[in-house]
Amino acid sequence: MVVANWKMNLVRSDALLLVKEVLSNKADNISVDVIFSPSYPYIYKVAKLCQINNNFSVSSQDCSVSKEGAYTGEVSAEMIASCGAKYVILGHSERRTKFNESNDELKQKINRALENNLKVIFCCGESLQQRLGKFHFDWVKEQINESIFHLSKNKVENIILAYEPIWAIGTGKTASTEEAQEMHHFIRKLFEKRYDNDVAENLSILYGGSCNPNNASQLFSQNDIDGGLIGGASLSSDKFLTIINSF
Ligand code: PGA
Repeated sequence: MVVANWKMNLVRSDALLLVKEVLSNKADNISVDVIFSPSYPYIYKVAKLCQINNNFSVSSQDCSVSKEGAYTGEVSAEMIASCGAKYVILGHSERRTKFNESNDELKQKINRALENNLKVIFCCGESLQQRLGKFHFDWVKEQINESIFHLSKNKVENIILAYEPIWAIGTGKTASTEEAQEMHHFIRKLFEKRYDNDVAENLSILYGGSCNPNNASQLFSQNDIDGGLIGGASLSSDKFLTIINSF
């Protein structure tokens, strides 16, 4: 699975052109789920374009913690689903730091998403200080524990994990394949302990943080790395296609 996290980039015409280029150039023999995550105003149109290929779908970059009502500017999970999205990214480090999203708020957002049949791409990851201080495993464990582990076994099947070390996002510094694989393996073991082996084996764990055409195939070749959450490199159809073709 490869997810294009466009963040707050691309005007409508550029966004639709990018989707069309990727759709028409993806090699047919590669079966990888490709998910575009545009800004809210384009979700409906991008979802329509993606209908021509079962491997393509759409995610939002967030959803409201509230169901409906007097929350000016908010967008609910129900609205997102009604526009044809199948996924929502929750817990991106930019949302956690710039919009103060806590593990508990994310737990509630996850509930809203699942109530509306959206699958959740849940981001977790540590800062550089936490890694240097060797707290990174505890930190990621706490993020997952407090936001996800209240879910029952059949609900947790709708969760996709994205490990995104904050120090690697948009910085050009990628985690080494060993560092990424080590954390992915750790995350899978957490799910095995909390649920069972089946849940752990079926869990998709994506890597995000300066993943690009040069490092994608090495990252994706690791046992516990099932794909990528791509920021900067997903804004160019050439780069994104190379990443899609890196499995
Ligand atoms: P990047 O962003 O690929 O530009 O590092 C990844 C992300 O923030 O999801």
